Amino acid sequence: MSGAPSTSTISHEDVLAWLRVYAQVIADNRGYLTDLDAAIGDADHGANMDRGFKAVIAKLMDTADKDISTTLRTVGMALISTVGGAAGPLYGTLFLQASQAAAGKTALTLSDWATMLDAATEGVIKRGKAGPGDKTMVDALVPAVQALKGAIAAGQSFPEALQSSARAAEHGMQSTLPLIAHKGRASYLGERSAGHLDPGATSSYLLIKAAADTWAGSY
Ligand SMILES: [Mg+2]
Repeated sequence: MSGAPSTSTISHEDVLAWLRVYAQVIADNRGYLTDLDAAIGDADHGANMDRGFKAVIAKLMDTADKDISTTLRTVGMALISTVGGAAGPLYGTLFLQASQAAAGKTALTLSDWATMLDAATEGVIKRGKAGPGDKTMVDALVPAVQALKGAIAAGQSFPEALQSSARAAEHGMQSTLPLIAHKGRASYLGERSAGHLDPGATSSYLLIKAAADTWAGSY
């Protein structure tokens, strides 16, 4: 889809490219996410996310949103109105918080992206009342934010910092495998929730990876 940005900033067009890539990744992983949710939930995460991001793409083609913040708000609202279960409000909150943090920006530096991802993650934590280790989206998002901030502080290049963030999200997702769920439907299973990846942490990892792959030019 989109190649590497010509500069080390993320434009509105780059944000749209990320959303298109993620919608395709979700469509490709619909069955996988549903299988993960079948093991510890109600087997609808893949279908819900696919429906939501198909609605997002349709909405973005319909609207003439011209700035990053407005586009991200459109995404959040579309997800809240089309995705059932916990994922709609949580992913909706993620994008609405990112939208607020991007207000007035015509292009994003890495540091802007870190600020947005931080605000988005804090929003998910508050909305879901979940912390690290509860076997949720938070387990992928928190390490992604921390790695991104660390990469910026260490002076990593634009693509390196994005890839560091994606690798941390992947490790965070993998860390949910042995955990016992403390939030959401999976928590009803108690100890039987251990031994399965969390579907929300998996879709969150895919979101961070889609950003890195799109913006670092490896997609
Ligand atoms: Mg579910």
